[in-house]
Amino acid sequence: MYTHTSINTTEDKPTAIAVLTSGGDSPGMNPAIRGVVRAALHQGIKVFGVHKGYSGLIIGDMWEMDSASVTNIVQRGGTLLKSDRCQAFLDPAVRHQAAEVLLKKGIDSLVVIGGDGSLTGAHMLASESSIRVIGLPGTIDNDIYGTDDTIGFDTAVNTALDAIDKIRDTALSHECLFLVEVMGRNSGFIATHVGIACGAELVVIPEYEVEVDAISFQLANNRVQGKGSSGIIVVAEGPTPGLTYNLAKQLEQHGQRPKVCILGHIQRGGRPTGHDRVLASCLGAAAVDYLCGGYNDVMIGIKNGAIAETPLQHIIDKKKQLDAQLFEHVQLLHK
Ligand code: ADP
Repeated sequence: MYTHTSINTTEDKPTAIAVLTSGGDSPGMNPAIRGVVRAALHQGIKVFGVHKGYSGLIIGDMWEMDSASVTNIVQRGGTLLKSDRCQAFLDPAVRHQAAEVLLKKGIDSLVVIGGDGSLTGAHMLASESSIRVIGLPGTIDNDIYGTDDTIGFDTAVNTALDAIDKIRDTALSHECLFLVEVMGRNSGFIATHVGIACGAELVVIPEYEVEVDAISFQLANNRVQGKGSSGIIVVAEGPTPGLTYNLAKQLEQHGQRPKVCILGHIQRGGRPTGHDRVLASCLGAAAVDYLCGGYNDVMIGIKNGAIAETPLQHIIDKKKQLDAQLFEHVQLLHK
């Protein structure tokens, strides 16, 4: 499914590769780990799994992996290696210590699977040390520049859809309005995709200001058009907790009686979808190819259906924009 243009994989073979998962976990991290491990072993390269992300890296908490150590994980959510947030890694002296730990163990390359924070840490390590670092986009949010798709996004969308299809039954039976909060602090990728796929009446996302008057008007209009008074509004959680409850209160002042359902962390767990398993497996294997081809300080992602690299610096500097047309489709399709 995903291919990349031919890389000379004998150019600069790593001596040994470490792999870690960091930040918020996402379904598909396990197949990505498996991809890295199996591809490295195929190339005759030793591979080490790091326990608990950067926290394990700085203290050398890692073990050598063989083919059997990633057996039976392709279908499992979460991460075999565990994940963590590590404030200490923001300190350049601590990152220096991490590089020393790797070099002492004879490891010259690292694959980091995580979100934008983790990839920022990966870039810092690559630019400050001789360790060669490849990042993989592991986040349900799909908000990473340089890739059309991130590991876990498809599963999170499907998990939310499963729940919303059930909520829709109650909304229809009781003719009531539900505000369903999905994840997305800074971006509305999940909310917009979920909104289209569940036939939501409206979607509220951080990229656009909430206009309660307009929402209320549209809901009233739906009733006039005979669409009944049930409905689903998908709300991205936004940067401040409580946004969905605040919106519900404001809608109450406009005569609506919405119920709130927060989907929360269920969106981060669960078996990865087939799509995420293929994506993660291919990116994991590609990370090893790119290391063998001499690449460093890049993230491997998907651009126009093919595997492609982006400098980690660009991931830090640039923001991936939600396609405005996609957002407009929610309303267009509901009409
Ligand atoms: P995610 O990777 O899911 O976005 P975080 O933003 O919490 O999650 O980042 C995960 C970890 O990445 C942090 O706990 C820290 O160890 C590392 N990290 C984040 N930002 C930086 C940074 N500016 N410099 C170095 N390391 C960072």
